[in-house]
Amino acid sequence: MRSLKFAALIAASWLVMPTQAQQLSGESSLLPEANYSNSEVTVEQVLGYPLGTKITSPADMSRYFEALQQAYPKQVKLLEYGKSWERRTLYYAVISSEDNMADFDGFMKGMQALADPRKTDSDKAEQLIDELPGSIWLSYGVHGNEISSPEAAMVTAYHLLHDQREQTQRWLDNTMVFIDPLQNPDGRARFVDRYYMSVGLEHSGDRRSAEHNEPWPNGRTNHYLFDMNRDWIALTQPEISGQIDALLKYYPLVFVDLHEMGGDSTYYFTPEARPYNPLITESQRETLNWIGKNNGQWFDEKGFDYFTREIFDAFYPGYGASWPLYQGSVAMTYEMASARGHLFDRTDGDVLTYADGVQQHFIASISTIQTVSERREALLQKFWEYRKSAVEAGEDGDVRSIILPAKDDPAAARKLASLLVEQGAEVKQAEKAFDVCGTDYEAGAYIIDMAQPAHRMIRTLMDKQVDMADDFLAEQEQRRNNNLPDQIYDVTGWSLPLMFNVDSHTCDDLPDVATAFVEEGRIEPGKVINPDAKVTFLVRWGDMNAGRFLTAALREGLEVRQSELAFTHESAGEFPSGSLILTRADNSDDLQTKLQKLAEASGATVEGVDTSWMTEGPNFGSHNVSKLEAPNIAIAWDEPVSPYSAGHTRFVIERQMGYPVTAIRTMQLLQNDLDGLDVLILPEGAYSGVFNDKSVEKIQRWVSDGGVLLTLGSASAWAVETGLLNTQLERKVPEEGVTEPDEEIKVDGKVIESREQLLTEIKPHGADPDWVPGALLNAKVDTKHWLSAGVKPQVVSIYNGNDVFTPIDIDHGRNIAWFAGADSLLASGFLWDDIAQQLPYKPLLMWQPSGKGMIISFTQEPTYRAYMDGLNTLLMNALFLAPAKAQ
Ligand SMILES: [Zn+2]
Repeated sequence: MRSLKFAALIAASWLVMPTQAQQLSGESSLLPEANYSNSEVTVEQVLGYPLGTKITSPADMSRYFEALQQAYPKQVKLLEYGKSWERRTLYYAVISSEDNMADFDGFMKGMQALADPRKTDSDKAEQLIDELPGSIWLSYGVHGNEISSPEAAMVTAYHLLHDQREQTQRWLDNTMVFIDPLQNPDGRARFVDRYYMSVGLEHSGDRRSAEHNEPWPNGRTNHYLFDMNRDWIALTQPEISGQIDALLKYYPLVFVDLHEMGGDSTYYFTPEARPYNPLITESQRETLNWIGKNNGQWFDEKGFDYFTREIFDAFYPGYGASWPLYQGSVAMTYEMASARGHLFDRTDGDVLTYADGVQQHFIASISTIQTVSERREALLQKFWEYRKSAVEAGEDGDVRSIILPAKDDPAAARKLASLLVEQGAEVKQAEKAFDVCGTDYEAGAYIIDMAQPAHRMIRTLMDKQVDMADDFLAEQEQRRNNNLPDQIYDVTGWSLPLMFNVDSHTCDDLPDVATAFVEEGRIEPGKVINPDAKVTFLVRWGDMNAGRFLTAALREGLEVRQSELAFTHESAGEFPSGSLILTRADNSDDLQTKLQKLAEASGATVEGVDTSWMTEGPNFGSHNVSKLEAPNIAIAWDEPVSPYSAGHTRFVIERQMGYPVTAIRTMQLLQNDLDGLDVLILPEGAYSGVFNDKSVEKIQRWVSDGGVLLTLGSASAWAVETGLLNTQLERKVPEEGVTEPDEEIKVDGKVIESREQLLTEIKPHGADPDWVPGALLNAKVDTKHWLSAGVKPQVVSIYNGNDVFTPIDIDHGRNIAWFAGADSLLASGFLWDDIAQQLPYKPLLMWQPSGKGMIISFTQEPTYRAYMDGLNTLLMNALFLAPAKAQ
């Protein structure tokens, strides 16, 4: 009894907690002119506190939407689209008039018909445009610590269902409103738990307070620490791939992704900053203007500050606010200044409240619904025209088809083909061999007919180069000359065939061959050839099918050997270096059954042979064949590690390779010995602030005793600084005329003859290379080393930042992969001239033996956004082959 009373007291104190500048509480205060009905399902009634006075947890948000559905079953549909990694349900609400909802299936079919002009004629389209409601998809809270938008999702839903005014009823008649209230429930749960743990008697607006400083990892990311607002091209995370499945059912005409930015800012909405992706059409930009202008009117009326055009661009297609643009809808980002808690002291002296954010996101949401309602017919018409123009662009363009031969890496080609299908494209697979555009292809090649409504989506994902406008780039050069940061917001290269290192050919013709449609499924089940073989089973190394097979076999406790050299088997043919060998003699009697299961799940082709006799290369008993053990792989976790890099890396190893990783907090790495670890991964991070000389010595000792230290990106730079890795970091190549500044106050006079010379004279001496915002670069591989077993002679790497390493000397180690020569360096994206001159032949991957162990250093992050699949075999070699090479 007593404890209950105490609990009630605490609960009450939450409710009455003074929130100083808080002027808003409850739904009615957000829009005084609204006329809310009596039967109200308010946040207070359902959850026990007035809207805007508490940051609602994901579980309570679900409860609230369920209550709305229960109260308005004829107007609200709640639909699931998946589960987050932490098993929270992902869902969206559809809200409209009773009439519209009664024919929800008809709406969906209508949009599907309008989306495909190959199957729908103009008369039918005209009828659909006349009859269909407009549609809008509002996505909230993809960044879990951007807290106000999910609350605005609740009040937007509330408003639509309760406001009795004719205006709102008209919106419901004209519009299907899709609300995804919480794209990232795991991140929000992390934020909310941590936030309320740090609160005291009064909320603090002080940005130094515990309330305003999240511990590692903050709530922005999902469980695997991904920024999901970059994942819309590679669809690595369930939160995004599930959302895309849903979007492709309805093709909502307008999509908004609602975010928060720094608390000193105001509110941002469309139109976007430059550069625009050239695939975005004029018609779409016109719609973005309509929406921005209407928002501006509302914000002016309410007295809210806002800005447009200055920061958030529409170039990289992997944002939520980009993806729908390539399907014919329009999409945009809204950004609200974040209170990052209940209160935030702005530098201008104002106090920003949580409720401010909720209110402004709410107003922007309903303002956009209004635009869709008022422009219903025009938006449907534009969507139809877009889909038609997409098919025509494919028919008339230089590229009529894209073909993936699927020969040298069928696993990656399969994944790419599936990904395109998941993205709404049609992909076919040839049932027979064929030739087109002068090339012969085998059965199984993938064919993409570019004359399809998803034409621009396909180009966005598959084009090897997308250029930014010349005048934009000229402006950036000018900014550089003035020592100002560039305005490039994200990576400039993202071509999937390059990132997957998969051959992809373009052709101005369509092959004439029998085909079947490709269904979703990133892994094609593998098989065992000659399962009754008496001696040995072999798996060709070099793709992710083999990689997954290896990890599964090791976890299953099978004895696996790996050949360091390529070999040719008497009956089974050629096998590349790194190929796997599982002998009957090494393994138990049920080997065959186990192999069958593993082949199917991993996608690998396992080939049974009846002799160990080779026509070329080592036999299975050779000293070039080593036994692989299941390594204990650890990754540094927590400050000062980059959460993205740690998360991406753990994800790639665990969820793409299928192998568990032990995450160890850096404090534990400092305080404990490293015994029992086979591989220690240091992801990107600012290690020098945390690891001291003693920790470096400890790591060095552990490596000498047989450990494999794997450093990624900036961790490799740290390894150089501490002397662990025997090479150097480079400054910028000195430019002619850029001189070391004189120490003297008075110096000899000098004639400056031109503006160019002046710009050179004032350049800093000994500066670091220029910062690159993410381009794809070609790299060459030394295929004779075991670390590159099974890897193609050329790979593609991301290049981010400005670290340039000198090649490691031959007496210290080997340069396993290095950036290609100047004429073939850039695979996709944009590089400044001077760093493009400096990077060729500089290392991408170095190997340095040390005592019984070794250091393996990637100078860039191979696991970046978990979409650099083409580097996975190199990474697998470092993780699984290297421990066998250590002594
Ligand atoms: Zn955000």
